Amino acid sequence: MSFNKLLAILILHYMILINMDKNKEIRSAGLKVTDARRSILRLLETHPHSHLSAYNVHQQLFEKKKSVGIATVYRVLNQFVEAGICVRHNFETGHSLYELAPDVHHDHMVCLSTGAVIEFEDKLIEQRQQQMAADKGYKIIDHNLILFVEPID
Ligand SMILES: [Zn+2]
Repeated sequence: MSFNKLLAILILHYMILINMDKNKEIRSAGLKVTDARRSILRLLETHPHSHLSAYNVHQQLFEKKKSVGIATVYRVLNQFVEAGICVRHNFETGHSLYELAPDVHHDHMVCLSTGAVIEFEDKLIEQRQQQMAADKGYKIIDHNLILFVEPID
């Protein structure tokens, strides 16, 4: 786990503790949000290479007997994105998919038949992209390579 991600998670846990201690009047509401944040973070941590929609998260929490409303799931996931804990992808599959911010960069293939998201890393592609940007007088700040694929058979 990268230092930044660890720091973001620690800050989040700290924020949760502060809310519990300081805002006693909204403790019941705050606790509910706290539980949601903890449950969602735990779910994402136990599915490290998954790319989950808010609906997937909602369903999986429901199956674990943790009832978190879909609106809360959306709100918490977006808070996680803003805090740098999660990355949101728009793969044109109709809904945003979320994953924990990865320690090591990877790119994605999206299967147009099944919607499966496959992660890949390729040093040569990374180097070629750096070179291509450099040839045009730029350095890459960030990039997002998505291959839209279908099964060969
Ligand atoms: Zn990924």
